[in-house]
Amino acid sequence: MHDQVAIVTGASRGIGAAIAKRLGEDGFRVVVNYSGSVEQAKAVVAAIEAAGSEAIAVKADVSNADDVKALVKTAVDTFGRLDCLVNNAGITRDGLLMRMKETDFDDVLATNLKGAFLTSQAATRPLLKSKSGRIINIASVVGITGNAGQANYAAAKAGLIGLTKSVARELAARHVTVNAVCPGFIETDMTGALTDAQREATLGQIPFNRFGRVEDVASIVSFLASSEAAYVTGQTIAVDGGMTMA
Ligand code: NAP
Repeated sequence: MHDQVAIVTGASRGIGAAIAKRLGEDGFRVVVNYSGSVEQAKAVVAAIEAAGSEAIAVKADVSNADDVKALVKTAVDTFGRLDCLVNNAGITRDGLLMRMKETDFDDVLATNLKGAFLTSQAATRPLLKSKSGRIINIASVVGITGNAGQANYAAAKAGLIGLTKSVARELAARHVTVNAVCPGFIETDMTGALTDAQREATLGQIPFNRFGRVEDVASIVSFLASSEAAYVTGQTIAVDGGMTMA
């Protein structure tokens, strides 16, 4: 992957940080996007550099079209090309349907779904120039199964799976692959917000009887970003300890 360039959105913390570090270890030069956590984004850049690759941190709100265009431009201006986009940035605003505020629905859709649309759109031209472009969308098992209290989040993640398949069909002729990875429950700040009772109930649904690690997701992204996955597109791959096996 030497010389290849990846953008990872929401890479200051959690799953995105692990993906950015793993792609750096794979030899990608990495654009570490963040929205607020500048110190954590800088620490991810330092870790990638310490492992022998190059990285920059770029602030951009993925739900803002101008920010996203500037993010992609900075990546191409700095490193000269773009080969891989990982749409990972995401938020939750949980609540039961009857109590969910309209802004909680809109905010989650804006970051988790529209953000991936805007970033994919802005990145497509440079990705087409790559001989092996990759878009990898971090969806969720909740986008497949639904989840009480997450109508907004599940709708966004289900939409992201539809976006993945549509863009995969559009870009296949130009050798850009587009896939979705669906994590189950992974140990991050996002799942740190669960109550003990929610954690117990969730563990009961996971055949592996443990939450996943951020590295479990990063290794699948690493594979999809590699030349080994050149003939894989439009797929939805769960990394969930067996939670959603058919
Ligand atoms: P997290 O620890 O809460 O981190 C979220 C990341 O997204 C942070 O780096 C944050 O940046 C960034 N972000 C949030 N809003 C943004 C915006 N508008 N523009 C740019 N960046 C933004 O979350 P996580 O658990 O790692 O989740 C990462 C992805 O995996 C999300 O898409 C999530 O839905 C998905 N996922 C997670 C799980 C899980 O169990 N954790 C399961 C399924 C799917 P700042 O810190 O700079 O704000």
